[in-house]
Amino acid sequence: MFVTAAAATFKTSFTSRWRMRSPQPMAGLHMSAASPSASMKRKFFVGGNWKCNGSMHSIKELCEALNAGERLESSAVEVMVAPPALYASYARSLLRDDFAVGLQNCWIGKPGAFTGEIAADMIRDAGFPYVILGHSERRHIPELRENDQTVARKTRYAIEQGLAVVLCIGELLEERQAGKTREVNERQLNAVKEVLSDEDWRRVVIAYEPVWAIGTGQVATVEQAEQAHAEIRSWLEKQVGSTAAAETRILYGGSVTADNCDELAKQPDVDGFLVGGASLKPAFLDIVRSHKTKAAAMV
Ligand code: PEP
Repeated sequence: MFVTAAAATFKTSFTSRWRMRSPQPMAGLHMSAASPSASMKRKFFVGGNWKCNGSMHSIKELCEALNAGERLESSAVEVMVAPPALYASYARSLLRDDFAVGLQNCWIGKPGAFTGEIAADMIRDAGFPYVILGHSERRHIPELRENDQTVARKTRYAIEQGLAVVLCIGELLEERQAGKTREVNERQLNAVKEVLSDEDWRRVVIAYEPVWAIGTGQVATVEQAEQAHAEIRSWLEKQVGSTAAAETRILYGGSVTADNCDELAKQPDVDGFLVGGASLKPAFLDIVRSHKTKAAAMV
């Protein structure tokens, strides 16, 4: 099964368990290289990226609100929240164990003299199974400016350390307007492919996040989202293989709310969401619940 580790079961033995586990088809899986989307059941994934927001007080309130929701069905949905690193352990101590907790970024390689950085080794050692990499804010904010190769090297190192990676890709508005969405997504994916083995993709969840939709309230249409996701799946098929195409979760991110998540979730190649602003509110649980809409649409 592709990345499904929940924080509940994540221990420092995560790496060795992953490496010992041989590739297993998911229960009820009917492989079809011709139509991976239609025939494949991928576990719905909802990530909450809290970005650089929160305080001891607000994080306690948010965790209490999330804990007040119904217990998550582990066979149906995987939920991860990524607080600011300083509060990750605090959030972990407060949240129910059916929520996974991840980090929003990591250093490019081994620990050492890199003031202010956090290495993937430390994230694993501290018990967090996930890291988000390549977020558009890290790629495009002038003070950060991570390029495709930096994101790729971070992804490889994090995977080597046993983490699962939520790998963000997506185009700028001008790139979409110039008809370059597919080209940009594939360029960002190609850089990662250069440094990963086919097996490594088992620990990657791709988040397609058009930059113009992030934090703007301008969500992609269902057609725009599905087209990009189908193109990404087709890239996986050609560049990594039919198993990766069938099993890799492709999340949509960009102004997802409780009001628009259900229509997006119904799209065949949308396997969940990466949520920014709306993950800071109890309504995040409504977005999580869209896994039920997805399940109904797949029947
Ligand atoms: C994000 O930060 O990954 C994101 C999708 O933000 P928002 O949901 O606020 O658009």
